[in-house]
Amino acid sequence: MEKCVVVHYGEIGLKGKNRDFFERKLVENIKRITKSKAKRKFGRIEVKYVNGFEERLKKIPGIRYFGVGFKTELDLESIKEVTLQVLPDSFKTFKVSASRSNKNFSLNSMEINKEVGSFIAEKTGKKVDLGNPDVTVWIEVCEKEAYVYSTRMEGIGGLPIGTAGKVISLVSGGIDSPVASFMAMKRGCEVVMLHFFNRTLHSPQVRKKIYRLAEILSEYQGDMRLYMVPFEEIQMEIIRTVPAKLRMIIYRRSMMRMANTIAERENAKAIVTGDNLSQVASQTLENLNVIFSVSKLAVLSPLIGFDKEEIVNLAKKIGTYETSILPYEDCCSLMIAKHPETKARKEIVEEFERFEGFNLVELEKSVIGKAEITEID
Ligand code: ATP
Ligand code: MG
Repeated sequence: MEKCVVVHYGEIGLKGKNRDFFERKLVENIKRITKSKAKRKFGRIEVKYVNGFEERLKKIPGIRYFGVGFKTELDLESIKEVTLQVLPDSFKTFKVSASRSNKNFSLNSMEINKEVGSFIAEKTGKKVDLGNPDVTVWIEVCEKEAYVYSTRMEGIGGLPIGTAGKVISLVSGGIDSPVASFMAMKRGCEVVMLHFFNRTLHSPQVRKKIYRLAEILSEYQGDMRLYMVPFEEIQMEIIRTVPAKLRMIIYRRSMMRMANTIAERENAKAIVTGDNLSQVASQTLENLNVIFSVSKLAVLSPLIGFDKEEIVNLAKKIGTYETSILPYEDCCSLMIAKHPETKARKEIVEEFERFEGFNLVELEKSVIGKAEITEID
């Protein structure tokens, strides 16, 4: 009898030919993140138990739920004995819920429920309640072994990290963009985080805040690369040459171009942002077009369909909220108009980026060379 965890995945099962690839990726991710042993077992994954590692498992994308209990030999007597080990100290009612992927086992699921149910009732004197039991004892009968557990935990679902490829996620330190990074991870993207900061403003606190956000997000992904790009030179040039009303748009276009350069270096396939339509007056389709159109790669903004309240709730749930609300503004808010442009036009914006004796794109190239790269674990 061996303490272990049985991991179940949802959507992976639907992926036809890719199923093998998705399952292998999930096993690899579980091993990498929990440092435990994991192997595929007919539609589920068996993981060797490590004390207290449930919180880590709950955060691994691709896991729908998992049971914490024991692996046992494939005979009814062993299974019965093990059920007694997984019962809590105090409870009044219980039920047995068996499932069988091995159709050659001598009993079917209903028969297992009945047999094991009467055994537990007899040994403990407790009552069966099929509707609302205090404890459910799950039994999974597989090809070569059975799993028995009474603790089942929900995962976050989604798809294993790495199955979709790599993305560059623009993270500002606000509430939204860390949630957007999480959403990308949840759909199988490996996230490389990118932050632009002004070294002349609150620099140590901002740095700490961004590192902290990266650490929180790396709990879902495991190792994560963080680029911190100094933005003050670009910002000074923009403030010098662009009217206040257009600065934010040009800051963001500049960030987008540099994100594309980094994506090329990283072999990433898309850019992720925390944009949300109409959340603030300047988040119009006109502005987003002017900003996104400098990107060669697809720009994904997974929060586009959420209300602010939903984003805040998600931020709280994934653990980034408390860090995001620390009061250090990101550099995008520096020296911008009180009422920024809401209907930007590409031709006009482009004129401010390149005119005689001035070329923002050239400056961006030199600034990227100053990026600080940190590997977060
Ligand atoms: P957030 O809560 O993520 O800051 P927001 O609703 O405040 O989003 P903006 O501040 O306008 O919106 O930023 C929109 C998006 O631009 C951010 O979600 C992020 O993806 C990107 N972004 C803004 N500032 C930065 C920055 N300093 N570094 C990297 N990305 C940034
Ligand atoms: Mg912001």
